[in-house]
Amino acid sequence: MFNYMAMNEQQVREGVQKYGPAVGARKIIDQEYQHALETLNTGIYITYYCAEQKSECSRIGSTSKCFCGHLFSQHKQQLGKKFNTGCENCECKRFQFVPSRPEECGMYWLPRRKDFNILTWRPPCKCNHGCEDHLPNYPLRCRKCQCSDFDSYFACIACDRRWELHETLFEDESERKALGKKVGQDYLPLSNTPDIQEHVFQDQKYQQMPQKLQQGLVGNDKPFPKQQIQTNKQQQQTTAYTRPNQQQQQKAIQQQQQKPIQQQQQTNKIVQKKK
Ligand SMILES: [Zn+2]
Ligand SMILES: [Zn+2]
Ligand SMILES: [Zn+2]
Ligand SMILES: [Zn+2]
Ligand SMILES: [Zn+2]
Repeated sequence: MFNYMAMNEQQVREGVQKYGPAVGARKIIDQEYQHALETLNTGIYITYYCAEQKSECSRIGSTSKCFCGHLFSQHKQQLGKKFNTGCENCECKRFQFVPSRPEECGMYWLPRRKDFNILTWRPPCKCNHGCEDHLPNYPLRCRKCQCSDFDSYFACIACDRRWELHETLFEDESERKALGKKVGQDYLPLSNTPDIQEHVFQDQKYQQMPQKLQQGLVGNDKPFPKQQIQTNKQQQQTTAYTRPNQQQQQKAIQQQQQKPIQQQQQTNKIVQKKK
């Protein structure tokens, strides 16, 4: 069995059942959620992928960190024939995902230390210096010591493999479908367990979602309160790179609203599929 979309969801699931989401896990899953929404807007699925384990270990989006220290949103996003994800703030030639929290590296104990600072923490090399202390293009030499190439001193929480065994993968929906990978609303975090998904995202997160998705996720038995269905500033921020058929999506939603019975049937189908 392939481990598609395993991520850190097992940990999140167990944590949520026992205590509610832990702070770090919550931040990670919120970020993944935001990135999944961005993906549904652009149609370009960007993942931190381990080919050896066939594991998609993170959903990449605007707030993901690159090895160079800059965010994905600070990189060029030409994803067509002339592929270019070079950084706009430094000499980095292509976006390479790195974990932005120690929990993603299995270092759960680290944030509990008194002297821990998430703003200065970077995924470490065996030379004891962080990724940003290394040159962003190959060979990834260290600027602070003799280290000749970044040698990751951490393992991925989702697949237990080293950073070097991962790649940043760009795919469209048809490519993913052909490989049996999750697309559409199934790409949202915790889509395998709608009950926990609802528990985790019961609050403000739903406001950012297209109405169609809200209904698909919460089901007909729990219609979402009307006052919460409105776009806000945050949603505009998440759609950093939109594509023209967003208008079509909105049109589709409007059409659905005009046909409440048909819409209900569609939503039922989605719910049935899940069971
Ligand atoms: Zn970069
Ligand atoms: Zn950079
Ligand atoms: Zn090093
Ligand atoms: Zn070093
Ligand atoms: Zn991994």
